[in-house]
Amino acid sequence: MAINVTRSSMPSYEEYCEEIKDLWESRWLTNMGAKHNELKAQLCEYLKVPCTELFVNGHLALYCALKALKLEGEIITTPFTFASTTNAIVQAGCTPVYCDVAEDYTIDVSKIEDLITDKTSAILAVHVYGNICDVEAIDKIAKKHGLKVIYDAAHAFGVEYKGRGICTYGDVSMLSFHATKVFHTIEGGALCYNDESLTPEIVKQRGFGLNGEDIDCFGTNGKMNEFQAAMGLCNLRHIDGEIESRGEAYRLYDKLLSGVEGLKLLPLREGIKQNFAYYPVLFDEAVFGKSRDEVVAALAQESIVARKYFYPLVSANKEFDRDMTLSTPIAKDFSERVLCLPMYAHLDRTDVERICNIILK
Ligand SMILES: *Cc1c(COP(=O)(O)O)cnc(C)c1O
Repeated sequence: MAINVTRSSMPSYEEYCEEIKDLWESRWLTNMGAKHNELKAQLCEYLKVPCTELFVNGHLALYCALKALKLEGEIITTPFTFASTTNAIVQAGCTPVYCDVAEDYTIDVSKIEDLITDKTSAILAVHVYGNICDVEAIDKIAKKHGLKVIYDAAHAFGVEYKGRGICTYGDVSMLSFHATKVFHTIEGGALCYNDESLTPEIVKQRGFGLNGEDIDCFGTNGKMNEFQAAMGLCNLRHIDGEIESRGEAYRLYDKLLSGVEGLKLLPLREGIKQNFAYYPVLFDEAVFGKSRDEVVAALAQESIVARKYFYPLVSANKEFDRDMTLSTPIAKDFSERVLCLPMYAHLDRTDVERICNIILK
């Protein structure tokens, strides 16, 4: 049977219908309705963050974060991410400056300071695959140089570090609630932050620059609607079970693939509570005997979709006037050798075994 790389979690049909029923009474379908406000309150609690604002998708949330922080000039970021991260920087009128990644795919903090210039305004780092950045080192560098810190936490829903919600680190964190993520609202996203005084600016950016009857600035439209929020309310009821179920598949992959020569599994930072978002494997062809791309083809023959994620790097965008991938050789190398195996809640034990057998054969 075909196995896709991901499969969206869904509540029962009845549960969702029950949740959206009120909307036929209220006729309030978007613009901070009851479902939106309820989801926002529940997420603050679940994620252990003081402030959250919900968005129609993660990308617009990230864009609004950069605008709300009034960032200009250069933003130090990582090429080992989804296209969204760089796009948000460029759309916000800033220039991405690429820093290479460390062994665990997150930004290499030892290389950040060399990239800081008098034009640098922020560090936009990405928590990758459910693992997290060296948030403490990033915090120190940012304080020393007076930079803002934004996290693309699209992969890190529900992750905690030393008992703290991961989205309490940095100035603002962006979550994506896209259908393929650990928690979703079909499409959706959020900004999480500690400083309540940022709220008016974030809300203005999300809503056309409007402030009551005043027009304070230019803004976009990034509001989450009530049907999205209703899906979120349903999915949040089941999230702990879904994450636990992912964990079972994750541990089975670990058991079957750890210790195999030429395969490197995800190195996790100590002290994190995981969300089991992705299962990446790094192939060393010289030792393993097969390349990442040969493994992709072998799995595809058995109707199993694994994903070369992130490949190609966002810094390979042809609109850059030089080859930006050259400045980050490690990220480039990883992007050519890494493969994300199927990972979702209720992935069958036998399917995980079948996938591993194909890889090891
Ligand atoms: C999914 C994702 C995004 C964008 O989220 P959308 O909700 O699809 O706009 C941004 N960054 C990363 C790393 C992602 O995986």
